[in-house]
Amino acid sequence: MSRFLSQKYADLTPYTPGEQPQDTQYVKLNTNESPFPPSEKAMAAGLKALRPLQLYSDPDCRIVREKLAARYGVRPEEVLVTNGSDEGLNFCFMAFCDGAHGAAFPAVSYGFYPVFAQLNGIPYTEIPLKPDFSVDPADYLGIGKTVFIANPNAPTGMALTPAEIEPILQANPDNVVVIDEAYVDFGGESCIPLTREYDNLIVVQTFSKSRSLAGGRLGYAIGNRALIADLDALRYSTNPYNVNSATLAIGAAILDDEETTRRNCAVIMENRDYTVSALRGLGFQVLDSRANFVFARSPRVDGEVLYRKLKARGVLVRHFSKPEIAQFNRITIGTRQQMDVLLTAVRAILEENE
Ligand code: PMP
Repeated sequence: MSRFLSQKYADLTPYTPGEQPQDTQYVKLNTNESPFPPSEKAMAAGLKALRPLQLYSDPDCRIVREKLAARYGVRPEEVLVTNGSDEGLNFCFMAFCDGAHGAAFPAVSYGFYPVFAQLNGIPYTEIPLKPDFSVDPADYLGIGKTVFIANPNAPTGMALTPAEIEPILQANPDNVVVIDEAYVDFGGESCIPLTREYDNLIVVQTFSKSRSLAGGRLGYAIGNRALIADLDALRYSTNPYNVNSATLAIGAAILDDEETTRRNCAVIMENRDYTVSALRGLGFQVLDSRANFVFARSPRVDGEVLYRKLKARGVLVRHFSKPEIAQFNRITIGTRQQMDVLLTAVRAILEENE
């Protein structure tokens, strides 16, 4: 830390992203990316959009905003387009967590929430999960704080239904509830329809998982127009050209081809079922996942040891050292072939351990 750093950031612990090795070839199952690249057509649209690179991108993100509005049956003023959903989540912390009431989120959830809270000087409460690792909606009723819930949750993969979330919205009419649906397309149920009824709901989604665009950085938030206008004011006050031209063009092309997105998600869900059965067959406890990853622990091998041994065999998964989940690994669901490489490595490691 330099002697010039603002005091308010002195204690900040930055978010630790999953490893992105640039040299070795790994079977990469650690950051919940899609194994499928965007279509050739989408890539061509991106390249074409790079042509007037001397010009700024559209600060209004109009085309993507309108396509998203049409896709989800809302109005364009109810959509905010962001540089990955992380940016939209940060704007929600900046915009809606005033004063002493602060934020509340599950104690085991997306690791960026406490970082965003710290970054913005927001006090936060971490609410333990139930013993079965699910989120208990009852814990959030009348909590009087801005609520952030990843649904499906990460890294557990477990999901609540909109009917389970609705009482949280009703019981916190004076607080915003942010539902982070980064993984909703893999079998979860979206709360977007509830934005019509509740003026305190923001739903955040991303192109990084089901739409194969993690490196392009494209996300969005949907909510009533007053909430979206608040977030947009922050966007215009930080980086009005927050999404680059190529990403906007690729995103628009991906939205024109929802059939491919649906098909890719179906394959991932099929490969997830396959992986869950295989891991359970090997004695693993695997939580019930509605995401493009599974969270699993074996009674036969320590979580961190398994992570390290898989890495030594060229398979990257994600391990978290937080004590309550340190026996688990989060495994992204990739192609059937990638899952077979993982399972072969797991079998070999278990045998070696006997
Ligand atoms: N929410 C959750 C729960 C996530 O796991 C991630 C991915 N790390 C994000 C949001 C952010 O994704 P992105 O910024 O790529 O849209």
